[in-house]
Amino acid sequence: MPASTPNQIQLHALNYDELSEVLASAGVRTVHTRPLWQALHRGAEADLREGTELPPPLRRWIRENWNNLRTDTPEIVSEIRSDDGYTRKLLLRLDDGHEIETVIMGYPGRFTACLSTQVGCAMGCVFCATGQMGYVRQLRTGEMVAQVHTVQRILQANGELGLRNLVLMGMGEPLHNYDQVMRAMQIVTDNRGIGIGNSRVTVSTVGVVPAIRRFAKEDVSYNLAVSLHATNDEDRTALIPVNRRWPIADILDACRYYTEKTSRKVLFGWTLIAGKNDSPQQAREVAALLAGMDAHVNLIRLNPTAGYGGIATESSSAEEFSRIIQESGLPCTIRQRRGIDVGAGCGQLAAKQT
Ligand code: SAH
Ligand code: SF4
Repeated sequence: MPASTPNQIQLHALNYDELSEVLASAGVRTVHTRPLWQALHRGAEADLREGTELPPPLRRWIRENWNNLRTDTPEIVSEIRSDDGYTRKLLLRLDDGHEIETVIMGYPGRFTACLSTQVGCAMGCVFCATGQMGYVRQLRTGEMVAQVHTVQRILQANGELGLRNLVLMGMGEPLHNYDQVMRAMQIVTDNRGIGIGNSRVTVSTVGVVPAIRRFAKEDVSYNLAVSLHATNDEDRTALIPVNRRWPIADILDACRYYTEKTSRKVLFGWTLIAGKNDSPQQAREVAALLAGMDAHVNLIRLNPTAGYGGIATESSSAEEFSRIIQESGLPCTIRQRRGIDVGAGCGQLAAKQT
């Protein structure tokens, strides 16, 4: 597709009704919205001009408007598989040359795609490779939708169907790019196209309080994951500088509001760092802090990053931590450390080729 110019129609960023309006204003009957939507979101081809099964009026419209139409299909710079074959890290180049990462995890029939929402991140968490690179720019709606397309094409090319879940846990803070993220989720959950169930979408945040409250009030709700990592503000601020602005008590209030509005539980992420936040005492503090909430705790052992000296908790300590939380009555799981050998583990995404 041509490089961006004003007045372009960004096809991957339009929802169904908007696409219909674009066609109507160009004199194409809106009955043609559906085949175009399907070609855009279900088609195996990245290039629309190759969609020979499209009705003739659509083909004509595409030909005549080609220079004004834009999709956000990225270039795949590399695809690296982990040793166990179950994690694939895609390095994708955007049209301005910036690179982002998308990770595919899972087994045949039930894959999860981990999407990026920004190039870099402004939140500055000290243990996270994306935070260490700083903020570069927001991803556009189409660039998030196109990550899903890219994953689907790769799965299809391998004869694998079944992209079932989306987690917004790649590069960036999704709630710091709120409108474009929500629009992208609306598009990828539309049943007429990609059709991922909205209960299979999880948005992970460091705790942008006003955005959590807004998220709670959306007509369509998605799952919420909140990265906690500490039970007091002093410790949390040392790991996550924006905790100064949105301290723990405010985050938990916003989470209770989300649960009340959506009837969904909140998934609390806890990155275990040896000697920092992995003691049995801290596990008891987590249990006390979250007591009475509809919550699930997800433990992640720290993955190594260049800019942070912390080390991962031993698995036996992680088990112990998990057991204490579970005994308090809160569900708790330890996330499998997947893709470490390809630099695709949580927080290792900094768009460097490994
Ligand atoms: N910005 C969002 C989503 C992207 S980060 C957020 O912070 O929630 C996704 C998850 O990876 C977060 O839970 C984050 O705390 C975790 N993470 C970041 N760096 C990590 C690292 N080095 N090891 C393990 N988990 C990490
Ligand atoms: Fe940003 Fe999340 Fe990394 Fe923090 S952990 S720097 S919020 S991507």
